[in-house]
Amino acid sequence: MKIIIIGAGFSGLATANLLAARGIPRDDIIILEKNSKIGGLIQTHHHDGYVLESGPQAFRGTARNMHEFLKITGLLEKVVPSRSTVNIRYILHQGKLKKLPTGPLSALTTSVISFKSKLRILKEPFVKRWEDGEESVADFVRRRFGSGLDHLVDAFVTGVYGGNHEKLSLDHAFPQLRQLERMKGSVIRGGLHVARQAKKQRKRQDDDQKKTTKKKRKKQPFLYTFQKGLKQGIELLARNLDIQLNVTVTGIEFNEKNKMYKVTTNMGDHDVDNVVIAANPNSLGEIQLFDLNFDQKVPEARIASVYLGYNADAFPSPPKGYGFLIPSTENRFILGIQFISDIFPHLAPPRKVLLRCFIGGVRQPDRASLPNDELVNNSIDEVASLLSAKKDPEFTQVVRPIGGIPQIELGHGSVIKYKEILEQEYGIHVTGIGWTGISTDHLAGEAFKIVESIIQSHQASS
Ligand SMILES: Cc1cc2nc3c(=O)[nH]c(=O)nc-3n(C[C@H](O)[C@H](O)[C@H](O)COP(=O)(O)OP(=O)(O)OC[C@H]3O[C@@H](n4cnc5c(N)ncnc54)[C@H](O)[C@@H]3O)c2cc1C
Repeated sequence: MKIIIIGAGFSGLATANLLAARGIPRDDIIILEKNSKIGGLIQTHHHDGYVLESGPQAFRGTARNMHEFLKITGLLEKVVPSRSTVNIRYILHQGKLKKLPTGPLSALTTSVISFKSKLRILKEPFVKRWEDGEESVADFVRRRFGSGLDHLVDAFVTGVYGGNHEKLSLDHAFPQLRQLERMKGSVIRGGLHVARQAKKQRKRQDDDQKKTTKKKRKKQPFLYTFQKGLKQGIELLARNLDIQLNVTVTGIEFNEKNKMYKVTTNMGDHDVDNVVIAANPNSLGEIQLFDLNFDQKVPEARIASVYLGYNADAFPSPPKGYGFLIPSTENRFILGIQFISDIFPHLAPPRKVLLRCFIGGVRQPDRASLPNDELVNNSIDEVASLLSAKKDPEFTQVVRPIGGIPQIELGHGSVIKYKEILEQEYGIHVTGIGWTGISTDHLAGEAFKIVESIIQSHQASS
């Protein structure tokens, strides 16, 4: 069985590794990548002892799909976990950094939600189910919890998508929230139900484990990277795979004579049994897919990152925790800051504080392409004013990812419909950032599904 995977980003490499883990010979899998390097959005840069990422900073260790994927591929033994302080997160609220609540008790006492809004949240279980079609994330939260959470939702959506909560589709970007509402008529009731089920499941696993070993199950760390950054993980995934760089796929058709797909590229054609597209919806513009014509563009958030490295004594006390996000109503130059050297101390030299400032996104699209010195100077000013830095950084570097973050906005259903047509009517497999999700853990889950489907159809035909 010959399989072509289009794209050597996380999605393509994850799919290839899981196929190999299910017994598909590595020689039967070819990955075609139009760039001169692997990794797609995941690129790590090394400067003066600092390790910088232009795309994702880390994989989410607590996500079941990601954990399972790392275990199967042997990467779990190579990861470096984040420090536990990563659970401390802040939001800029009325000009001041405030700790975000981490549970129901701290939500009751936090000053980032007003007393009136807290009372309104308690009414959520009694709000009627929505039956009227698609809703934006902002409308959904306002309808169920009141408008007092607007700033938190705005900041959260900025942190995940670099997006606008008024435009993102609740149904396609966060379908699990709609599911909770459908399941129990309330996000709170549904959330409690899911948490109880997860607790029972964990207890069952613990009991099973106790029968075979005396060891207690370890709590999974929140985030993972590698000693040399995320690209090291990508390089481990790429080992022993046939990856052809600088090859752009330009067409896919089905050959009725030999019952195989013909994949056309700038470097020649391939006849194969299975095709996996592992690239974002916008990259289909350059591929002639059968007799189809898909011309819908998915908006993208361009993000620039400014890394600043300080001597620890530049701060009254070095920033602790994950970092902070800034709602658009606070009108700042940056979107937020991650405290990299506190999350992963090994990514900075000893006694240095490494910060990652995010700039741009859907709300400030032009800022991501401003000249580097403008980005750096504005970021230094923000750190001085928000984190009381008394000295300038000794290290500055601007990094930009090779692409943007696709926005799963209202109307995204037609993009998903197109994916379904390709899969159900034309028999090819489609994954990649921006179809049904954007995070690496979501894409690990998609890779599992595709591999299962390929294995099943292979077994049915043999
Ligand atoms: C700034 C930023 C921060 C992020 N932060 C996080 C985070 O903290 N956590 C997280 O989980 N995720 C994060 N993400 C998302 C994460 O980067 C993606 O989930 C993941 O990298 C997507 O991988 P992919 O393989 O689907 O797509 P890509 O990385 O885009 O790879 C697709 C590949 O396909 C290739 N390709 C496209 N068209 C063709 C063609 N016609 N022929 C051949 N090759 C082709 C491209 O060149 C590319 O290499 C972030 C993204 C950005 C931009």
